[in-house]
Amino acid sequence: MRTAIKTLGEAKRLGIRMVAVCHNMECRYSRAVDLDSVISRVGQLHRILPVLSVKHFSERLVCPNCSHRGMFVWTAVNDDVDPQIVDPLFSIMEWDERGHCQPICQTKSFKIAVAAYDVAMLEDPRKHITLQERARLLKDSRAKCVG
Ligand SMILES: [Zn+2]
Repeated sequence: MRTAIKTLGEAKRLGIRMVAVCHNMECRYSRAVDLDSVISRVGQLHRILPVLSVKHFSERLVCPNCSHRGMFVWTAVNDDVDPQIVDPLFSIMEWDERGHCQPICQTKSFKIAVAAYDVAMLEDPRKHITLQERARLLKDSRAKCVG
């Protein structure tokens, strides 16, 4: 379900949350966007998503993890109160040797999820990447066959 909201003010009114993910491929830190503080800086009418030729607030976000400037943002329609948990449906996770994982892409679209998984594999085939639909594992780069 896609909503037609365009501005930060509308997102705020509708209780829509936004998630920001670090541009840095090595980092990919993600966090919830503090709409109140963004609106206080750029105003209610600022576009939610970047538009050509308009400076977007996401370019000014600085990653708290690696200090890289610029983060991807998207909306997460969700009434969950925990700001760390969005409801993306599909997640592409990257696993390290200690068994910790972090999401490198989260989306409601299966096609985008599969594309992101493939791109993640192309980027570094040695990585351990999984594609999940919520808790269900759909693809696993370390497994010969899943499902
Ligand atoms: Zn970062």
